[in-house]
Amino acid sequence: MSSPTHFEFATATRIVFGPGRVREAGSLAKALGKRALVVTGRRAGRAARVIALLADSGVDSSIFAVPGEPEVATVEAGSAQARTDGCDLVVSVGGGSALDAGKAIAAMLANEGRLLDYLEVIGEGRSLAQPPVPFIAIPTTAGTGTEVTRNAVLASPEHRVKVSLRSPLMLPRVALVDPELTYDLPPHLTASTGLDALTQLIEPFVCSRRNPMTDVVCREGMRRVARSLRAAVADGQAAAAREDMALASLFGGLALANAGLGAVHGFAGPLGGMFPAPHGALCAVLLPVVMEVNLAALREREPASPTLDRYDEVAQTLTGDPAARAPDGVAWVRQLVAALRLPRLAAYGVKPADIDELAAKAARSSSMKANPVALTAHELRQVLEQAV
Ligand SMILES: [Zn+2]
Repeated sequence: MSSPTHFEFATATRIVFGPGRVREAGSLAKALGKRALVVTGRRAGRAARVIALLADSGVDSSIFAVPGEPEVATVEAGSAQARTDGCDLVVSVGGGSALDAGKAIAAMLANEGRLLDYLEVIGEGRSLAQPPVPFIAIPTTAGTGTEVTRNAVLASPEHRVKVSLRSPLMLPRVALVDPELTYDLPPHLTASTGLDALTQLIEPFVCSRRNPMTDVVCREGMRRVARSLRAAVADGQAAAAREDMALASLFGGLALANAGLGAVHGFAGPLGGMFPAPHGALCAVLLPVVMEVNLAALREREPASPTLDRYDEVAQTLTGDPAARAPDGVAWVRQLVAALRLPRLAAYGVKPADIDELAAKAARSSSMKANPVALTAHELRQVLEQAV
């Protein structure tokens, strides 16, 4: 891009990273509040250690478990519990669902009115008037990067969509990233969340809103996924691989929050709202197809686009071969997805008859706006046909 560079970069107030550093949870929380709503995921027992650490530092806990993907009603229930229990701090321990739920609860505790007033698409999309109560994000998966993003993805079952509560004020106060917390993540979740991380590094790197700071983190993140995702799936205790994936997830979050995403996430949003599929698994099957369709569209309509060189660089970073070209990158991703046995969309109940509705919804999604090239309706359907 030859136009002058303009960008902003914002992230969590503090990022605390390193194996074993979860033990600092108590002292970090003590500086921010007296009573924490501890938001956990399906395996609520995983938060026991954090709750003990908070207690050692004199911070009381009220536990709120989020068994599945958070819904509008989940956030309302969590906010009500936190108000009843007098919580002045929210600490999420878990995967993307627990982190998204906690982030939204922290926002609603400080703002009046109903959650719907503030939601995009299905609500009134009002801006948050007040900063959320302090929020500490402690991820136990490596993929979403939610610990450094400014939105919370929530499902609305009655609308069959996923929507975001979004505000620059929602960046967490502390992102506490301890790779050791991911050691017992089972191989299939390591694989799907890892593919989300990879997607969140490739899409911002080629997207229309990329910038020099996100480029740096994307390059480094892709390198780490390339060398470590297979190892982390094969052996959950592989410390170096787990550290690489925790960093790659964090870097993907930094990149998507400050640049943008693209068509993979443009499709993954509506798909996740209509079918019970893990977000990372959707990204996995869509990623190589979108790369291929984007490349063909760029070559046809914008053959001089510098984004084509970027796809070559993605291929070189992933394969480690300085002579690699864009199609080698697509092949590398396709092999990875096959090796990790991530299923196609049909496995989640997606049928050819759903393609028109999904393509129309994807075309309107916010992620699609940052795709490196505007895809035609035919190309959007083509992606889905190939991924089903
Ligand atoms: Zn994602």
